[in-house]
Amino acid sequence: MESLDRTELDFLLRDSVENGFRGFAVSYQPQIRTGTGRLYGAEALARWRCARFGNVGPDVFIPMMEENGKIVELGKWIFRKAAEQCQKWRGIQPDFRMSVNLSCRHLEKADMKQFARITLQRLGLPARNMMVELTESWPVSGGKEGEELVFGLQETGMGLAMDDFGSGYSSLLSLQKFPFQLVKIDKDFVKFAAKDGGQDDFVPSLTRLCHSVGRQVCLEGVETGEEYEAVRRLGIEVMQGYYFGRPVPAEEFERLYL
Ligand code: C2E
Ligand code: CA
Ligand code: CA
Repeated sequence: MESLDRTELDFLLRDSVENGFRGFAVSYQPQIRTGTGRLYGAEALARWRCARFGNVGPDVFIPMMEENGKIVELGKWIFRKAAEQCQKWRGIQPDFRMSVNLSCRHLEKADMKQFARITLQRLGLPARNMMVELTESWPVSGGKEGEELVFGLQETGMGLAMDDFGSGYSSLLSLQKFPFQLVKIDKDFVKFAAKDGGQDDFVPSLTRLCHSVGRQVCLEGVETGEEYEAVRRLGIEVMQGYYFGRPVPAEEFERLYL
C-alpha cells in the first residue's frame, strides 16, 4: 500500500475507534471437536469496513492498530462483544468456548486482566467458556510484564491458547514455560500433511510433542476433504478451517452451527 493510503487509513482507523468503533464488526469461525464432529466453539475475528476503502483485511488493519496503539481499545471491544455472544450461545450449548485474540500491545497495559474479570462478572459468564489466543512470540517479546499478564489471565480461569505454533521463534520455550491448555498448529503445516499421501511427519510429530507435555491441539487451516482425511486420525482434539466453515457474522453462525 502507498504511504499516502497508509496515512489516510491510519486516520480513518483512529476516527472509527473514537466514533464508537464505526465500521468494525466481529465474525465467528467454527471450531470442531475431531472425535465427535460436534461444535467446540468459535474464534472471534475482527472485521472492518470503511466508506473510502470498502472491506479492509485484518492483515492490514491489525498491524496498523498495533503501531498506533488503538489495538488495545479494539481488543477490549472485541472481547466484550465476543463475551456477550458467548453468554447467549452458552444457553444453547453450555460448554461453548469462545476464543479471542490478544495482541502483544495488551501486555503493556496491566488492566486487561481486570477488564476481562469485570466483563465476565457483569455478564455472569463463567471464565471457562472463554479462551484467549496469544501468538507464540508474545510472552517472550513481552518481558516480565508480559509474563505476569499471561499468568494473570490464567488466574481469571479463562483458557489460554498458543496461536500459530511453529511459525515464529522461541515457541518451545513458551510452550514449556506457560500454562497453555490448547496449542494451535499454524495453518501452513496442513498443506504438507496432505502432500504425497500423508507421508510428511510434521503435523503428527508436533501433535505428539504437544500431547506428551499435556497440551491439547487445534489444527488450523483445514481447507479440503483430502486434508481432513490426512489428519483426522492423529488424535488432534480440535480443528478449524474453511472445510468446516468460514468466519461469518453472529446471526449466520447461530443459524448454521447452533
Ligand atoms: P489468526 O489468529 O491466525 O486467525 C486465523 C486466520 O486464518 C483468520 O484470518 C481466518 O479467517 C483464517 N482462516 C481460517 N481458516 C482458514 C483456512 O482454512 N484457510 C486459510 N487460508 N485461512 C483460514 P483473518 O480473519 O483474516 O485474520 C488474520 C489475522 O489477523 C488473525 O490470524 C489474527 O492474527 C489477526 N486478527 C484478527 N482478528 C483479530 C483481533 O480481534 N485481535 C487481534 N489482536 N488480532 C486479530
Ligand atoms: Ca487466532
Ligand atoms: Ca492462527
